[in-house]
Formats: sequence, structure tokens, C-alpha cells
Amino acid sequence: MPTYQYACADCGHQFEVFQSFSEASLTTCPECKGEVRKVYSAVGVVFKGSGFYKTDSVKSKTPETPAATTPAAAPAPAPSSAPSAE
Ligand SMILES: [Zn+2]
Repeated sequence: MPTYQYACADCGHQFEVFQSFSEASLTTCPECKGEVRKVYSAVGVVFKGSGFYKTDSVKSKTPETPAATTPAAAPAPAPSSAPSAE
């Protein structure tokens, strides 16, 4: 069931009405019986204000050291703490 939003041209009263597509649109304000007009809710689509676009403020503070200099499979030196000779 779509929600239609109306705004009164006389008193400025705004209200929402659940209506089906087959139902007729409201024409009178429930408050002052004035003329109302249907407001198409484009509010949720428009993005205004700041903060929508991210600036380049998110940068890595620590410079990455090239990992190529330290290969992960570096050959570890053999432990010489256990001499086989007596
Ligand atoms: Zn009204």
C-alpha cells in the first residue's frame, strides 16, 4: 500500500494517507477542509549536505615498507645451540 503525502495549501497541514492506486486522491484538508495537493516524496532520494563524498583524509599514516626485501620464506639460520660433537 503506497503512502501518499498531502500538503494543504491553505493551512499548511501535511499528512500522509495510505491509499491504493485505485483510490481517488484526497482533495480536501481534514483540518480546514481546504484544498490539498499531493506531495511526491522525493525527499528520500535527494542527498544534500556535506559528508556524502569522502575526501582523501583516509590515508595510511605509516608508510608501507616494501615487503619484497623481507620474503616470508626467509631461510632461517640453523640453530647452532645443539652441537652434535661432544
Ligand atoms: Zn488545511
